[in-house]
Amino acid sequence: MTSLSRWTRATTAGLASDSGRGSVIPPLYLSTNYTFHAPGESREHDYSRSGNPTRDVLADALTALEDGAGAVIVGSGMAAASVTLEALVLDGGRVVAAHDAYGGTWRLLDVLARRGRFELDLVDLSDPAAAAAALAAPATLVWIETPSNPLLRITDIEEVARLGHAAGAQVVVDNTFCTPLIQQPLALGADVVIHSTTKFIAGHSDVVGGAIVAKDADVVAELAWWANTLGATAGAFDSYLTMRGLRSLEARLRIHDENAQAVVDAFDGHPAVRALHYPGLPDHPQYELARRQMRSQGSIVTVDFAGGRPAVDRFLDGLPIFHLAESLGGTESLVCHPATMTHAAMSAPAQRAAGITDGMLRLSVGLESLDDLVAVIVEGLERVDPAGGLDA
Ligand code: PLP
Repeated sequence: MTSLSRWTRATTAGLASDSGRGSVIPPLYLSTNYTFHAPGESREHDYSRSGNPTRDVLADALTALEDGAGAVIVGSGMAAASVTLEALVLDGGRVVAAHDAYGGTWRLLDVLARRGRFELDLVDLSDPAAAAAALAAPATLVWIETPSNPLLRITDIEEVARLGHAAGAQVVVDNTFCTPLIQQPLALGADVVIHSTTKFIAGHSDVVGGAIVAKDADVVAELAWWANTLGATAGAFDSYLTMRGLRSLEARLRIHDENAQAVVDAFDGHPAVRALHYPGLPDHPQYELARRQMRSQGSIVTVDFAGGRPAVDRFLDGLPIFHLAESLGGTESLVCHPATMTHAAMSAPAQRAAGITDGMLRLSVGLESLDDLVAVIVEGLERVDPAGGLDA
């Protein structure tokens, strides 16, 4: 038989590995500790913060999917960011990061830089000239998030990784929005990938988690050492839930993508819409790059209403199906107002620099019926601009 695909290896990770009772699904190991054979003679696992069989299954699946040397499973996406920065940036280093990264990532980078841990340059890495200028000087770490949140700008991973390596940096990509089924940063030259597995990977909005996957085994060992030392590793039950969600990722993504495209079509060209941000639109500034770098265009859509905040309020007033909530990537459709929700941690000037406006809503398109999703968007647009529907 030919070698199995990344997806098959990931979705079948740990199956039928229970030699004791033959369960198909690997058992959930909640025990915090494991007996030693003799003093100084431990089994594969001794204490669950350092290692846990349920967490190992998820690590194996994500290693296969990202084609890495190994994965470290931690308690949240922010724990993944913290451990990565702690492990890879020595005091006094220089970090070059996307200026429109997730608000929590921005807050972490900002506070560590203000405390003097490292020098920080926030740059529009989706602009090749700005990326080249920032990486003309030596750097320790480059932090890419693509597509960016919430404007869905695309950074050329291959090019920025090349520039980052020439500057002496390790290159990290936050791959949360895409998952490794849509985008494979390690294959494009990145050294480390991080995920908020809270989102598409777990996929059911019932578990917070994070993961770090690295290309090099020594880097994996360093990250694992820091995750254990800081106490950032994920609990067994959270890892179990995340793995359970991951097993259906490929099927979920197909419907997410199809529904998102229909929602985009419903918004596209409506007079109430000042800008529609979605990498699958031919007028997206990096449409060609997105097609090259991403297998599909994902299911996050950001709409900027011409009428600003009042238009946002009218659109949301009684909007069915979509829940006004942070997060993304679950089976349910969500809508959020980045300026006051996900990106509230960013200062007003930082929000402006990142292009976040008061009239902006970010949608995470879920798995509900496509016709119902389109119908509620069309109704919402009629609330914003009753005349628009007639012209559209
Ligand atoms: N990275 C991205 C792109 C995110 O959207 C988020 C959360 O929204 C995070 C990281 C942080 O993840 P978590 O909430 O699991 O800590």
